[in-house]
Amino acid sequence: MYNKTSHIAEEFINDEEILSSIEYAEENKNNLELIKNILEKAKDYKGISHRDAITLLLCEDQEIKESTKALAREIKKNFYGNRIVLFAPLYLSNHCVNGCVYCPYHYKNKHISRKKLTQEEIVEEVMALQDMGHKRLALETGEDPVNCPIDYVLESINTIYNIKHKNGAIRRVNVNIAATTIENYKKLKDAGIGTYILFQETYNKKNYEELHPTGPKSNYEYHTEAMDRAMTAGIDDVGIGVLFGLNSYKYDFTGLLMHAEHLEETFGCGPHTISVPRICPADDINPEDFSNAISDEIFEHIIAVLRIAVPYTGMIISTRESKSSREKALKLGVSQISGGSRTSVGGYAHEEVKEEEDSSQFDTSDKRSLDEIVDWLLEMGYIPSFCTACYREGRTGDRFMQLLKSGQIVNCCHPNALMTLKEYLEDYSTEKTKKLGDEIIKKELENITNEIVKKKATDYISNIQNGERDFRF
Ligand code: SF4
Ligand code: SF4
Repeated sequence: MYNKTSHIAEEFINDEEILSSIEYAEENKNNLELIKNILEKAKDYKGISHRDAITLLLCEDQEIKESTKALAREIKKNFYGNRIVLFAPLYLSNHCVNGCVYCPYHYKNKHISRKKLTQEEIVEEVMALQDMGHKRLALETGEDPVNCPIDYVLESINTIYNIKHKNGAIRRVNVNIAATTIENYKKLKDAGIGTYILFQETYNKKNYEELHPTGPKSNYEYHTEAMDRAMTAGIDDVGIGVLFGLNSYKYDFTGLLMHAEHLEETFGCGPHTISVPRICPADDINPEDFSNAISDEIFEHIIAVLRIAVPYTGMIISTRESKSSREKALKLGVSQISGGSRTSVGGYAHEEVKEEEDSSQFDTSDKRSLDEIVDWLLEMGYIPSFCTACYREGRTGDRFMQLLKSGQIVNCCHPNALMTLKEYLEDYSTEKTKKLGDEIIKKELENITNEIVKKKATDYISNIQNGERDFRF
C-alpha cells in the first residue's frame, strides 16, 4: 500500500500509485480547467504533487505547454537567478561486479580496460582539474568490494581535499558510489563529502530487475532505500535521478517525484539535486536497443515540469547532452552543469588515452573545454559559478532549504558566484573570457541590492585581484 513516509521501497515508491497517477493523468490531460488550476497552484512556488506534475507533463495543449515553460523559466530566474554552478566528474575506478545492461562497465564487458587510480594518479588527475579551474568534483566508481572498497574511497577523498597546487583547491567532493550500509554512509559523512548521489536508473521494479540481472545492484529494495540509509546516517544532501530511456518516462518521472516527496516528508528535507541523464552511446551499448528513448521535446518538457514540481531542488545536466540541448535546459531549470568532463579513468592527466585502452563510461556529446563552457555561459548572460560555500559554512539539509525557501540564499549565491568567477578569471581563463567575465562582474556587482553585501563583495573582489583567495558569504 502507498505510504509516503514508510522506509520500505515498495510502499513509498508504490507501483499501484504510480500506475493510477499515470491513468489519472491520461484521463485528464485535456481537461484544461483542471490543468490551469495546477498551473495556478504552481505559481505559489511551493511545488506540486507527483499526480499534478504527471498530468501537466502529459497535457498536449500547445498554449499550456508554453505557459508551463514560461513558469519554469520564471521559477528558475527567481530562485537561481542567472548563476550556473560548474563541476567535473572524476572517475576513480571502473571495476564493477554488476551486470547493468546499459553501462559499459558491466562485468561481462571484456573490451574495456579496467583501471583504478592509485593515490599518486589521483593527485595527478586533481592537479589537472585544478589547473582547469575546477573547485567542485563528483567522484564516480563502479561497485567492487575487492578492487574498490569503502576505505579506498575514503582515502581518495582525503587525498583530494589535501591537494594544494598553485591557487587551486577542491572545496567540495560529491560522491556517486553504489548503495551501501548506514555504517559506510557515516564514514562518508565523516570524510566531509558534499552531496551523496545515487541514481535509481528506473523505479519500475520488474524492469529494474531485468536491467540489473546480477550483482548486488540487482536488489531493487536495497538500492531504492539507499537514500533513507544515507539520511539516517546524517548525510543531509542527497542527489537522485533516473536514466531516462530505460523505462517509460511517465513511470520514472512519477517515481522520481514520489521519491522526492518521500524524503521531504520523512526527513524534513527533499533531495538537494535531481539529475536528468538520458541513455547515450558507449562501448557495448547502443541506445537504439532501448525502445523508451525520449525525444528532445519530451526531455525539455520533463525539465520544465520538474522545475515547477520541486522549485527548491537543484537540477543537473551532464556532458552527455549536446551544446544546444544544454542551452535549452539551462533556460528551463537546470542550475548545475559539468564542464570539460572526461568520463574515463585517468582521462584528465592523460588525455591521450588510446581508443583500445579507453575506459569511458559514456560518450560525451559536449566536448568543449571548461574555458569554452565558461565563455559560452558568459556570452549567454549567465554567471558561471565555482561556489562551494554552503557546505563549507554548514548550510546543508534543512538549514539550507530554509534559506532557499525564504529567498535569503540569493545574498550568498550571487556574490559568491561573482567572487569564484573572479578567481577563475585571474588564475585560469583565456584573455577573451577574462575580458568578458570582468565586464559581467562589474555589472552584476551593481545588481546586489543589499548595500552591506555589495560593499563586502566589491572589497573581496579587489582583494582577489590583488592575489588573495577563498572569500565567501
Ligand atoms: Fe557498475 Fe554502475 Fe555501470 Fe552498473 S551502472 S555496471 S553498477 S558502474
Ligand atoms: Fe550553492 Fe550555497 Fe554557493 Fe548558493 S551559496 S551557489 S546554494 S553553495
